[in-house]
Amino acid sequence: MSLRESDEEAFALLQRETEYRGQVIDLVPSDNHPSVSVREAERYPLFYSENDGRNYYYPACETVAEVEQLARERALACFPGAEDVNVKPTDGTRANEATYRALLKDGDTILSLGLAEGGHLSHGLKWNYSGQLYRIVHYGLTPTGLLDMDQVRELALEHRPQMIIAGGSSCPFQFDFEAFADIAKECGALLHSDISHFAGLVVSGHHPSPFPHSDSVMTTLQKTLRGAKGAVAFCRHAHAKALNRAVFPGVMAHATGAQLLAKAICFGEVGQPSFKALMERVVRNAQRLAGALADRGYALVSGGTQTHLMIVDVRSKGLTGKDAERRLQAGGILANKQLIPADPEKPTVCSGIRLGTPCSASRGMGEPEMDQIAGLIDRLIGGEDPAGVRAEVAELADSFPLP
Ligand SMILES: *Cc1c(COP(=O)(O)O)cnc(C)c1O
Repeated sequence: MSLRESDEEAFALLQRETEYRGQVIDLVPSDNHPSVSVREAERYPLFYSENDGRNYYYPACETVAEVEQLARERALACFPGAEDVNVKPTDGTRANEATYRALLKDGDTILSLGLAEGGHLSHGLKWNYSGQLYRIVHYGLTPTGLLDMDQVRELALEHRPQMIIAGGSSCPFQFDFEAFADIAKECGALLHSDISHFAGLVVSGHHPSPFPHSDSVMTTLQKTLRGAKGAVAFCRHAHAKALNRAVFPGVMAHATGAQLLAKAICFGEVGQPSFKALMERVVRNAQRLAGALADRGYALVSGGTQTHLMIVDVRSKGLTGKDAERRLQAGGILANKQLIPADPEKPTVCSGIRLGTPCSASRGMGEPEMDQIAGLIDRLIGGEDPAGVRAEVAELADSFPLP
């Protein structure tokens, strides 16, 4: 029996969301539309496969063991210089947790990018395990919104952290991992690089690689890598045993065959030349969208973008991030409110919005569409009646069907 027949209520929700996503333009930089092949992994039969790589605690795990090995090999092949990888983590937040547990003791000090400056909640938010188990010191940005490496070094020498984290979620700027590694070496810290957002750009050479400079590297798969929800945790050979134990049985029981197969398929696609072309499009589109918004008088944090995303300071248009998000959504454009450096607003209000190009690029949109989208954004933020804009957005979305 199909879901439509067996559960009308659930089917209606699924149907509504799928239709909605087809009619809007999603500029949330952490979102993406995975390929049909990645989504096919959902058909993998569901059963338990708890294992530490050598011992399996359930029967008939021969095929899932091969799937996991395939995902590992392909993940390592995508990132030259990577030594070892654990492909089990179900989430980036969990993969970071396992990495910290493998490499740190409770109470150790972590030096990471502040949240309003682009860091992630798993880098030390006080409501997250990271902020509760470790002593957190944050580095920030220069007044122009770029990484302040002098400050990173000063804080590292003053606080002597056991770990420095390079990476974040809302970074229009790039990370110089080699410079981070030099500072980590100088103060005796480990370097953990969290490339969750821009991992795709690392693969295509549009962003510096954290390998071989980092002791550990984490990435999610659902963002620029265009996989299903999930994460992988890389580390040097010397840390592999500790990391594997920290993942299982430290913070996880089993990963499903579907999750592991989806990761293998994702890394298979990421290894193809067509993926590099897609990332080229992501980056060009981001440049074009940022330029088109700047031309219309929008102030961009960091002065523009070197990645797949940009942060617009909407105070220049007399709005809060929350209001801007609402106006855009009413017109069928999705972008999330975002804190900006030294933001006077609360995280539930914000002074900025964050826009990115992975979803639109995965649908096949290019630079002409970015010009058009900048115009639509400007009209919605400017207060035009969203109904008319909404129809234009739906028409544009319709010409680029979801994969
Ligand atoms: C998205 C993200 C994560 C967490 O990913 P989840 O899968 O949502 O837990 C961790 N770190 C960074 C930098 C991220 O952008």
